[in-house]
Amino acid sequence: MDDSYLAKAFHYCLIEILLHHQSNFARLKRMQVDGILDRHFVHAASIMLGLMKYYVRTYGCQMNVADSNEMGRHLQARGIMQTEDSDDATVLLVNTCTVRQHAEDRAFSEIGRLKKWKALKPGRKVVVTGCAAERTKEYLEDRFPHIDLVVGAKSIEDFGTLVEGLLERRPEADDLDYATPSTSDKVSAFVTIMRGCNYSCTYCIVPYVRGRESYHPMEQVLAEVRDRVREGAREITLLGQTVNSYHRDGNRGKGTDFADLLEAVGAVEGVERVRFISPHPYYMTDRVIQAMADVPEVCEALHLPVQSGSTVMLKKMQRNYTREGYLELIRKLRRSMPEMTISTDVIVGFPGESDTDFRETLSLIEEVGFDFGFVFKYSPRVGTPAAELEGFPEELIEERHQECLSLMESIAAKKRQRWTGTVQDVLIEEEGFGRTRGNAKVAVQGNARVGETVPVMIARAEKSTFGHWRKL
Ligand code: SAM
Ligand code: SF4
Repeated sequence: MDDSYLAKAFHYCLIEILLHHQSNFARLKRMQVDGILDRHFVHAASIMLGLMKYYVRTYGCQMNVADSNEMGRHLQARGIMQTEDSDDATVLLVNTCTVRQHAEDRAFSEIGRLKKWKALKPGRKVVVTGCAAERTKEYLEDRFPHIDLVVGAKSIEDFGTLVEGLLERRPEADDLDYATPSTSDKVSAFVTIMRGCNYSCTYCIVPYVRGRESYHPMEQVLAEVRDRVREGAREITLLGQTVNSYHRDGNRGKGTDFADLLEAVGAVEGVERVRFISPHPYYMTDRVIQAMADVPEVCEALHLPVQSGSTVMLKKMQRNYTREGYLELIRKLRRSMPEMTISTDVIVGFPGESDTDFRETLSLIEEVGFDFGFVFKYSPRVGTPAAELEGFPEELIEERHQECLSLMESIAAKKRQRWTGTVQDVLIEEEGFGRTRGNAKVAVQGNARVGETVPVMIARAEKSTFGHWRKL
């Protein structure tokens, strides 16, 4: 038996003994055992005992939230537990977004502030990930030397290996913490089914920072769904940039498409509800609509980004559908699922948008009668074709934004009233709050348990997005 074997065996025995006696590990750094208990050991021991914690801050869309969860699982697999308090954390992960300039600016000022956070405790690590990290890796490393690791959006799936290198670096002596293991009891879970995007909407940076589409095999998706259910999920949201294009290109799916996937996910034991985001109107085929109507677990709620109500603008944006095509699709969906709630994304102030084009967007919002909608001010993204075009003054974009937003909100407020006095199945997601199948968040009075689905009488649907509802 050589020395290194003995040293290793000793490390493990010591950990066992300390665990058994519930030792105070904060004192470990002051201990010396014949030189064997070095910093590396303390680091390994702190990881093994869940003493290191990570804190994650996520900017942007649900894809980013899902990526943060995935990176969190990689860290947890290495014994590093999540904390809700950044003061307790050793690893701070900032998952960035670059879809609009505003999101990127917010993430960068946060990263700047982390210099102080890092200096407060030796051994702390700053990890920056996501779409802005992909786009501006060199700039980030230059401007913020306190960053320890940058992982771009295209490399999220390699996060486990990349972060390993960082954690193997020996920490400073003070790199110790206490942690309570976090339990993953989320009732509603995201499952990524594809990455990247094969579209090239002229305003959008996503294809540049996330690359071309790649699909997770059906078996992998189903295994993940089962994992989430085991952890307490009752509702699964399938994620992808054009989620309903799943396996449509080529034969990579061995015959499975998005409709098949909806059916298979709905059939997993323990799954009560299935949602998906973001579908592209082009791939909203009759087969997908039929599957939505036929699979009882698929909720009657659809977020279907339209971007503009003007066919001229849609062409300039390269969206691959017309105003009429979108409206026809909505009619089909409503024929098939009359109770369906429909929400959308709209961009105002895209270069060249005339007053007539803008009015067409307003009239489309009225004609569809969206239940909810995000209205975005166009934000030029360097490298995209639209960024080369002449833009509008900020005041005009602001004016259109206000007008469009108040129309969207007033229509949504009216539509919410149709729920008042009805009874809805509400899945309780956290104490006092749940969600209807139509995706309205509900304040629930009564003592329904988290994870339970209960019938709730809608007392009133307030002006804000959330209704205030009472349990029967
Ligand atoms: N893949 C989804 C689709 O095609 O509908 C959308 C993904 S994108 C991350 C989310 C939303 O951001 C888009 O629907 C669009 O409204 C908005 N968006 C994207 N690029 C934008 C830009 N340059 N300026 C303003 N809004 C933008
Ligand atoms: Fe961006 Fe268009 Fe792809 Fe959506 S479909 S991610 S808007 S390029």
